Amino acid sequence: MAELEGTITARRRQTRNSIYQYLFFSETPRSKQEIASDLSLSLPTVHQNLAELFEAGLVCRAGSQKSTGGRRAMSLTIAENARFAVGVSITGSGLRFLAANLSQQEIAHKKTERTDIDEIDDVGRLLADELEIFLDENGLNRAKLLGVGITLPAVLDTEKDVIVFAPILHLKDTSLSKITRYINYPTYVSNDAKSGGYAEWFTLPAQSSIAYLSLENGVGGAVLLKGAPYEGVNNRSGEFGHMTVEPNGLPCKCGKHGCLESYCTAARISDDIGITLEKFFEGLEQHNETYEALWKDVLWHLAIGINNLRMALDCDVVLGGFLTQFMEPYMPEIRHLAATLNTFEADAEYIKLCRYPKRAITLGVALHFIKEFVDSI
Ligand SMILES: [Zn+2]
Repeated sequence: MAELEGTITARRRQTRNSIYQYLFFSETPRSKQEIASDLSLSLPTVHQNLAELFEAGLVCRAGSQKSTGGRRAMSLTIAENARFAVGVSITGSGLRFLAANLSQQEIAHKKTERTDIDEIDDVGRLLADELEIFLDENGLNRAKLLGVGITLPAVLDTEKDVIVFAPILHLKDTSLSKITRYINYPTYVSNDAKSGGYAEWFTLPAQSSIAYLSLENGVGGAVLLKGAPYEGVNNRSGEFGHMTVEPNGLPCKCGKHGCLESYCTAARISDDIGITLEKFFEGLEQHNETYEALWKDVLWHLAIGINNLRMALDCDVVLGGFLTQFMEPYMPEIRHLAATLNTFEADAEYIKLCRYPKRAITLGVALHFIKEFVDSI
């Protein structure tokens, strides 16, 4: 009897969860009738579950929508500000904070410049203090905070709670608690490019697969296959920056030669030649020959890297990272170059630009808690 009860409870919970998830992933508000018909549930079942979700403050009315019979049906949506999560990225230039609500909208943002981050003895203390300041400054209600996601440009072993290697913080084989120990909320730590990939993949249809190629001052990425991140045996999947694209080519920071990262970083066309990215792309538009030659070399090696990903994984390749803010005009050229390398396809429409060139990393790591919350309803 107890077992049957348990089965019924689990099934009821699953039904409530499917209704919440349906509203969560719908781009527009939905009526009770739509929920019932799309999820193959009876109207009384939908009504009963919605009553529970209303009671918990997780669903609300979104005005009304026209029904085919001329009557107006109540349309429903998730209460997007019922909870929020914070994402923090630790970079060589400081800390970036972002708070996102349940609709994945940014509700607060802050950048704390700390170019001395590699010299700070206790990054965990700094992080916890700055987090509290961020919450206070933005009047964020701690009772609604689901958790704090933190990203690092690092190789992590989250199963063993270890930072394997984080050059910008001079950390090697260090416990994750060095970063998280003073934070009084649930925490989750992830690699930066993996978090960016997670943000891009999150709103795609279930079971989607992407290779996310992040182009910033480093090159990294993430592999998300059939709806789940693929971490690799050593947690180093998606280290696309160190694929060899030119044997004996340019030196890479990793000590090898000819890595994708030595050809396709934002730094190569800005800091390394003493100009800003804006100036570089302005110069390109004005046909500056030096810039054109350099960009041609960037794009050629990028196309090699992209084509290798396509050959290995046979899925969309999503270009992300802050460099992509400038790349839309060059997408036809990138696709053309990649297509010339491709054995099977005449075009390269599988190469996509990301949705979030600026905030994917902090959003992605915050989404860890939002996903956990959605699954727990
Ligand atoms: Zn390398």
